[in-house]
Amino acid sequence: MSLSSLTPQEIASRLETATADYERFAARGLSLDITRGKPSAAQLDLADELLTAVTGADAASADGTDTRNYGGLHGLPELREIFSPLLGVPTEQLLAQGNSSLTLMRDALAFAMLHGRPDSAAPWAGTPVRMLCPVPGYDRHFGLAESLGFELVPVATDAEGPDVDQVASLVAGDPSIKGIWIVPVHSNPIGVSISERRTRELMALPAAAGDFTVLWDNAYALHHLREPHPEPIDVLGIAAEAGNADRPLVFASTSKITHAGAGVAFFGASPTLVDWFARHTAAGAIGPDKVNHLRHARFFGSPEGVRAHMRKHAELLNPKFAAVDEVFSRELGPEDLAAWTNPSGGYFITLAVPPGTASHVVKLAAEAGVKLTPAGATHPHGVDPDDAIIRIAPTMPPLEEVEVAAEVVAACVRVAAYEAVASPRG
Ligand code: PMP
Repeated sequence: MSLSSLTPQEIASRLETATADYERFAARGLSLDITRGKPSAAQLDLADELLTAVTGADAASADGTDTRNYGGLHGLPELREIFSPLLGVPTEQLLAQGNSSLTLMRDALAFAMLHGRPDSAAPWAGTPVRMLCPVPGYDRHFGLAESLGFELVPVATDAEGPDVDQVASLVAGDPSIKGIWIVPVHSNPIGVSISERRTRELMALPAAAGDFTVLWDNAYALHHLREPHPEPIDVLGIAAEAGNADRPLVFASTSKITHAGAGVAFFGASPTLVDWFARHTAAGAIGPDKVNHLRHARFFGSPEGVRAHMRKHAELLNPKFAAVDEVFSRELGPEDLAAWTNPSGGYFITLAVPPGTASHVVKLAAEAGVKLTPAGATHPHGVDPDDAIIRIAPTMPPLEEVEVAAEVVAACVRVAAYEAVASPRG
């Protein structure tokens, strides 16, 4: 950052220009929202054939099952077969369930709390439990773990995934550390994809808790913006080779592939943990929505059908990601005021602003009519100790709105940065 080399006069003049730019935007009465990573209406439209893919006349699955009836707790086999190679999970170890993978994560953790895992000495509830949270990370992961009583422990992330030395030293000495969140591909929000080497290290590291669990949330497994893209990692095979077959629980869904609120969620694990999960699920469910499974299986037809569908998403999303990069490069690049990611997939751009200014940027943007995810949301308990990280979600609004929103954010970053050096806050 070259801010410290500017004279007070230069700072004052840049602040004046930035404020004038900001005020022009504020006067426009904008109402834009780039807070959540939702698909756009055009993306949802791509999957509308789902709505007619099953009728009363053809509701039978490949093996003749009437999908309208109860049963089939593990989910429809033909849909599990399609997603098996895409997620790197053998079909018999992959369950297709309801519409939300977050719900399956909640269930898995709740089952562990109430009943313990098969390898637990006792249920997790009633003793202190801690969860490792790679940062910056996904706010709903943190909120879920917190709501179940976990203490959240931040760990750093680098270009290959979570800092494995930090994880190894924490996990080796503390039996209350029961798990770690991992978003292995195009992570939310920084867009990092874990390397196979890092995966092997995480699956092999010695843990004081015999039931240490890796929550492998592969939410963006197929959400590539460009080539080459990461290939599925056989996390269950790697864990088994390392002698820790039961360590990873795999989650994924079609939320950002088909219809976000009406997709299909998947759970994968070792045979032992699949039995465990299915057994506890069975206490509260007679079977998932197999009509929805059948619609999805017919709509895609094959793994290649899913890949082809995701290429259409990439065509819609790429211009939006490019627009934000272009605006930030133009507005923030020359003055070297911030750094941002240019991800090769996923749903987010992470913007790093001068420390101590992120909350102010978010507030200024809100006052100018642009809603951003609260600063700090990418950290446990919503507190970013550096107050520097902002998550940008460019997927949902139309392209023109994304461009204007990025311009407003850039103006806010300039105002906040120059204000901070002109009159540092205490
Ligand atoms: N995991 C991650 C990392 C996500 O970003 C999201 C959606 N924002 C989810 C899970 C939610 O998935 P679902 O819709 O399947 O509950």
